[in-house]
Amino acid sequence: MSQRFAAKVALITGAASGIGRATTLRLVGEGATVFAVDLDAERLKETASLADGTVTTRTADVSDPATCAAVVQECVDAYSRIDVLGNIAGVARSDHFTELTVEQYRRLMGVNVDACFFLSQAAMPYLLETGGNIINIASSAGLVGQAYTVAYCASKGAVIQMTRALAMEYVKRGIRVNAIAPGVIDTPLIQKWEFPADVEVDLLMRYAPLRNAGEAEDVASLFAYVASDEGRSIHGAVLSVDNGMAAG
Ligand code: NAP
Repeated sequence: MSQRFAAKVALITGAASGIGRATTLRLVGEGATVFAVDLDAERLKETASLADGTVTTRTADVSDPATCAAVVQECVDAYSRIDVLGNIAGVARSDHFTELTVEQYRRLMGVNVDACFFLSQAAMPYLLETGGNIINIASSAGLVGQAYTVAYCASKGAVIQMTRALAMEYVKRGIRVNAIAPGVIDTPLIQKWEFPADVEVDLLMRYAPLRNAGEAEDVASLFAYVASDEGRSIHGAVLSVDNGMAAG
């Protein structure tokens, strides 16, 4: 495998599972040192044990802004740099609009939106030093409306606009900010997905992959391309990996 990330350091959230794990393994395979963050210590350790290279694990709830700052500081204390920030941790849920509680809404926004914002803010000074880049994992749900996931769609729409606005603000300063919008990718998030009772089935068509569900590695390989120097002209983009879900 090429070594596009030799001597580079990536901070990856959601690294214990699915897309975050696949991305961690991909970047390490290409020479990166990964500072891997997630909620679950055991599953994080499993990611590290699968990696053929250096993975430092840090258990953290990234929905907390102070924790975001601490995580970034620890990464820099350990490796003196950050070249790539991958905001991948996320949660999803499906509910009737009027049944989502305030706590459930805040949790979803905390993990999907606040974490992206505050990790990016904390990492920015270090990314400016390395000419690094940020990749946020959004969703096709941020590009098209899906019934029974109003809060999730809103959170991913926010991630997409955060990406574009940050890209504009930093366009002259040598760092890049991009988003990847997966459709249906076969990960635990999808495997555990449950619709509430009494959904109108014809409203679910936006969920149906038009071809096959993708693999976490499909997202990881695009992530690696965009994050590497080969992606040097990609800035402020929202790249779909969705078998056409958001196309029509
Ligand atoms: P996944 O397998 O569930 O992985 C997400 C990881 O994030 C899990 O390990 C999860 O831990 C962790 N996490 C959740 N809340 C966290 C927090 N507060 N702090 C730190 N880590 C936290 O799901 P995935 O499919 O790989 O999802 C990765 C990203 O892709 C998410 O942002 C998701 O919205 C996005 N996405 C996925 C799909 C898809 O079809 N799979 C499609 C579009 C977008 P727990 O398991 O303990 O909650």
